[in-house]
Amino acid sequence: MTESSANPTTHDHRHGGRPSAGAVLIEQMNEAGGKRPRARDVRPLLRLWPYLVHHRLDALIAGFWLIMATVTSLGLTVSARATLDNGFDGGVEAVNLWFGLLALNALALGLATAFRYYYVTKTGERIVADLRQGLFAQVLRLDPSFFNAIRTGEVLSRLTTDLQLIDTLLTTSVSYALRNVLTLIGAVILLLFVSLKLTGLVLLVVPLLIVPLFFYGRRVRALTEQTQDRFANAVGFAGESIEALETVQAFGREKSATRRFSGAVDASFNVSLKRMRARALMTAMIILVMFGGVTWVLWLGARDVIAGAMSAGTLLQFVLLSVFAAGAVSALGESWGDIQKAAGAMSRVDEILRARPAISAPAAPRALPEPASGHIVMRDVAFSYPGRPDLPALRGLDLDVRPGETVALVGPSGAGKSTVFRLLLRFYDPQAGAITLDGVDLREADPAAVRERMAWVSQEAPLFSGSALENIAFGHEGLSLEQARAVASKAQALGFIEALPQGFDTPLGERGRTLSGGQRQRLAIARALIRSAPVLLLDEATSALDAENERLVQAALAEAMGERTTLVIAHRLATVLKADRIVVLDDGRVAESGTHAELMARRGLYARLAELQFGIS
Ligand code: ADP
Repeated sequence: MTESSANPTTHDHRHGGRPSAGAVLIEQMNEAGGKRPRARDVRPLLRLWPYLVHHRLDALIAGFWLIMATVTSLGLTVSARATLDNGFDGGVEAVNLWFGLLALNALALGLATAFRYYYVTKTGERIVADLRQGLFAQVLRLDPSFFNAIRTGEVLSRLTTDLQLIDTLLTTSVSYALRNVLTLIGAVILLLFVSLKLTGLVLLVVPLLIVPLFFYGRRVRALTEQTQDRFANAVGFAGESIEALETVQAFGREKSATRRFSGAVDASFNVSLKRMRARALMTAMIILVMFGGVTWVLWLGARDVIAGAMSAGTLLQFVLLSVFAAGAVSALGESWGDIQKAAGAMSRVDEILRARPAISAPAAPRALPEPASGHIVMRDVAFSYPGRPDLPALRGLDLDVRPGETVALVGPSGAGKSTVFRLLLRFYDPQAGAITLDGVDLREADPAAVRERMAWVSQEAPLFSGSALENIAFGHEGLSLEQARAVASKAQALGFIEALPQGFDTPLGERGRTLSGGQRQRLAIARALIRSAPVLLLDEATSALDAENERLVQAALAEAMGERTTLVIAHRLATVLKADRIVVLDDGRVAESGTHAELMARRGLYARLAELQFGIS
């Protein structure tokens, strides 16, 4: 239900037959990364701590090399100072010595940087891989009530785009930010040692820089957002008009539409202008303060050098350190945005990680009796979906399906037929009444054990990318080719599978798109048959099949129903005629039940439905 609404674009691509859905997803993911909301509160990132602790050895090594890289890069300023101060006085030998040391320092910096990059990236990627695996496993554990509240597309975005944002944070931004923090701290400490006086003067200038940055920065950001909004308005209106061009022309509204669009463009331009002014002013102030301050401090320093109070090397080191520190500050400003983005991503990921499935095994689950007989009893079952407490889907439903019996469920759309299946598969628990399988209340059993006894063929019967064999083995892991052939033959699927280019090993493409509807249904029946479960839940496809496929699918179904307890949501006359009993649902209750002939004779709801659906009267 959510599938098609969630990703219409990937759908289009798929039919275009070019990039795979996966490739399209990655493409969209990179684009979408920019649009995911940020979080002001960066505390969700603390949730990454346990993962970091789990990989503490790598994290510690990464930290070590981070520090080493900072130390060696700051060390360059010391080397440069010593070279300038001592190298030229001591003749060629001294020059060789000091330049040699400088080269060694550079070598150490190179190595430390390489190791830092490797270990930081390794730690980050490992953590993201853990998160990805954990998140997917968690998503598969959750029950449908979670997915009623959140769109499938959104879950996918969290699995892809949001994790990508965290990936970027851990492998790039964190390393960058930490490096800059360390550089800043190291540079400021060194600066204090190099010249207390000049550093003090620089620190006086800094607040003068921060003030315009803070005030104008905020204004510029707000105006940027406004510009984007206005622009989006204009574009939205243009798109609407072009799509409905015939309507615009038929109503003779070209002029007024043009006027409206021009107005939106002008509004966007005016906001843009404001933003440009604010930005220009900010840039001017920053340059003025920064270069003015630097010139002033350097001028004081140069006078100290002439007076002999300071060496030329010291002044050089001072300048280098100041450049390092300033670079670090501006880089940190950039990182902040990434950190906020990743915090937003992490809080969305975390919401899924912390969700608890509403359906889980009780502490001491009751074992289902052996051998399984497949006896289903629903007693006075009432149920409404979590999202719709006001609209009961089932209102006191009674149903007893004896072992081996085939019961066809029919009823108007919305009567509750699919809901019966969802409760039997224990995707939800009823609010009142009880459902038992082989005498055990589903709520007292382990859901996995309950589902073990059910084979389900859903209406769409989704297949997975992989070979025909892998798709059948989905119902039973570790299946041999012989078993697969046997079951495919029962499901009338052997013929077409063997005719595929590589037989059972032929890749079926995403969702089995290389097969026809009838072939997909038979493969899905084979997949259910291989489970040899005592209960078969069959949601018959409504899509029309050609006569030959129809005959094959019916034969496959007859084989599937065989000895099993079968509950089938029937859409075809052939299926209801084969059933031992027909149960007619209406508005969440059993309205009638009996055989086709009995129910037709009653001339009730079934007779009316049969007339509509099967065309008999
Ligand atoms: P049927 O399969 O007979 O067409 P369903 O069992 O799908 O009927 O639906 C029974 C009722 O429950 C309908 O009123 C339907 O709107 C409602 N319903 C079905 N699925 C959901 C859901 N996920 N959330 C809320 N209401 C639902």
